[in-house]
Amino acid sequence: MSSPLEFEELSQTCRRDSFCLDCFHAFCSHCCGSHHHRGPFHTAISVDVAGRPVFQPGDSQWMPDEVVRAIAAEDYDTPLPRDSYCTGCKKIFCAAACPHHSNGTCLAGVVLRIEEHGGAHCVRCTGFEPWFRRVEGYLGDPVGEEEDELLLLPVLRRAPGTCAQCHAHWAGWHYEQHCSLPCINAWRQEVLMRRERREARRAARDLANLQIHH
Ligand SMILES: [Zn+2]
Ligand SMILES: [Zn+2]
Ligand SMILES: [Zn+2]
Ligand SMILES: [Zn+2]
Ligand SMILES: [Zn+2]
Repeated sequence: MSSPLEFEELSQTCRRDSFCLDCFHAFCSHCCGSHHHRGPFHTAISVDVAGRPVFQPGDSQWMPDEVVRAIAAEDYDTPLPRDSYCTGCKKIFCAAACPHHSNGTCLAGVVLRIEEHGGAHCVRCTGFEPWFRRVEGYLGDPVGEEEDELLLLPVLRRAPGTCAQCHAHWAGWHYEQHCSLPCINAWRQEVLMRRERREARRAARDLANLQIHH
């Protein structure tokens, strides 16, 4: 399921729940279900309470021992944070469980790095990336520590079917961001003000750095 970042429940975690007999790897069906061939090469793994894979009585008829061993060797238990978002397929995923969005399998996308700060989920970026203007509207003012040039910008969450500005429920197509022209204008104004605050913050920091070095 693809969905805009501002709709995503970012605090949910993933875990590996399937095994691909083609790549010979376990994967998370939420993150990676569409990246592996379906059908006989793709098997869902049931786990017991301890997180160990459970095999069905008929499995041994078609599963060679090496496959059973490979399946059993993987980790289906550890919760995996949803720490990345692909702007191409509009998907939140766990980078450790799915390399496909950044290794060329997913051609259209840029992978955003998601970090948690004080309960908010934030995108770590400079604000000058070529893709930034596309996501700028749903990122708030910087929080937490700046890391090199990278700011931590909280995702402004929104429920589908609500206006990004006044948060009213409305009958429009639910991916549409605003309920009315005044809301579009007010929202644009806020995006602009946040941009100006970021630029002022950057200018102040550059000036401070200049004074340290002179
Ligand atoms: Zn996942
Ligand atoms: Zn994948
Ligand atoms: Zn595969
Ligand atoms: Zn992608
Ligand atoms: Zn509105």
